[in-house]
Amino acid sequence: AERKRIAILGCTGSIGRQTLDVCRQHADKLEVVALSAHSNTKELVAAAREFGVKRIAVTDPQSVHDPILENLPRDARLYTGARSAVDICLFDDVDEVLVAIVGVAGLSASAAVLACGKQLALANKESLVVGGDLLMPMARPGMLLPVDSEHAAIFQCYQGENPKEAHCIWLTCSGGPFFGKSRSELSRVTVKQALAHPAWNMGAKISIDSATLMNKGLERIEALHLFHVDMDFVNVVIHREAKIHSMVEYVDGSVIAHLGASDMRIPIQYALSYPARWESPSPRLDFRQLSSLSFGEPDTDTFRCLKLADIAGREGGTLPCVLNAANEVAVDAFLHDRCSFTDIDAIVEYAMDQHDNSPVYSLDQLSDTDAWARIQARCALDRISR
Ligand code: NDP
Ligand code: MG
Repeated sequence: AERKRIAILGCTGSIGRQTLDVCRQHADKLEVVALSAHSNTKELVAAAREFGVKRIAVTDPQSVHDPILENLPRDARLYTGARSAVDICLFDDVDEVLVAIVGVAGLSASAAVLACGKQLALANKESLVVGGDLLMPMARPGMLLPVDSEHAAIFQCYQGENPKEAHCIWLTCSGGPFFGKSRSELSRVTVKQALAHPAWNMGAKISIDSATLMNKGLERIEALHLFHVDMDFVNVVIHREAKIHSMVEYVDGSVIAHLGASDMRIPIQYALSYPARWESPSPRLDFRQLSSLSFGEPDTDTFRCLKLADIAGREGGTLPCVLNAANEVAVDAFLHDRCSFTDIDAIVEYAMDQHDNSPVYSLDQLSDTDAWARIQARCALDRISR
């Protein structure tokens, strides 16, 4: 059979590496034809060699002069610059693109992939949070496959059902490393503590988002777009064991849940195999060993990012873009010890307060709004550090 030809953007990150793992596992079904990385040229070149990849993109302008790039396979072509991740996807020999870039930097690639009618396996949730109003009208049925585990779960809970008969979505949340902590305890947590997530091993940015619960707020907005529902439809429920990846409740009271091991290779693989299912070496759930599953309500007074995302999701327009941009600045500042953990939501709130909302009409407008929000967030940051 013909192999599916895939491009992986952000192949050096947590999701990117695990995607390469899936490709290694299913080399008879998947062919890697294009790869992008931002700055990790060493790992990019190694992956390009291993998989015999013909098109390689380096998006960080500082990294393009790295001498290691001279060791690319002879017939491989190098693309450079911020747009190069988009460029390598648009060739006819690419069937599906997995976008595993972190942050709003992934948006232009997501938009380009859908615009040229290719399948998009989307890990980059920021794309939908910021640009969902532009992306969803471009996505034909079956062309946008969520990789985010909760959304991959919800997507599967909808299979074979009439979406009009759904009553609500239960979006599960592990609670993160600081579950149960008070506001004053949160103000003193360190970067190291915040990076140690109990259930998943992820990149730095999403690890901090999981600790502030901004991740769950972003995921609620992501769900609005993917499943064409409103904020009241998407309930967040704390589920510490992270075995149920999310659920859909139907009008008759039946609830369909998706369960599995906490291993991102499962949703990554499904976004590549859909609608088929393939063998996976991932660990299995042994229900005899699962003594209990617990559930509870999130504490939005302590984890204020959830509240801010709720406001942004309800208002829509360019406000989610502001939420996301300010959060990216604040998370980066926290990671570099330039603010405290509880300053993150304060910075996001400040930027949101300054914003005049507007409907979304173009990628350029979103890029301007993003730049504006980053300036606001840096103002808030300056005040804090003074
Ligand atoms: P990582 O930080 O581990 O990896 C990010 C990747 O993006 C790297 O390949 C990096 O390149 C590249 N990159 C960084 N900045 C840019 C830029 N400005 N332009 C282009 N490429 C860039 O992130 P994760 O893999 O953890 O997350 C990726 C996305 O997937 C995020 O949107 C996240 O929310 C989402 N996601 C992640 C999950 C996880 O388990 N990790 C679960 C669900 C969703 P380099 O390393 O070369 O600098
Ligand atoms: Mg998730």
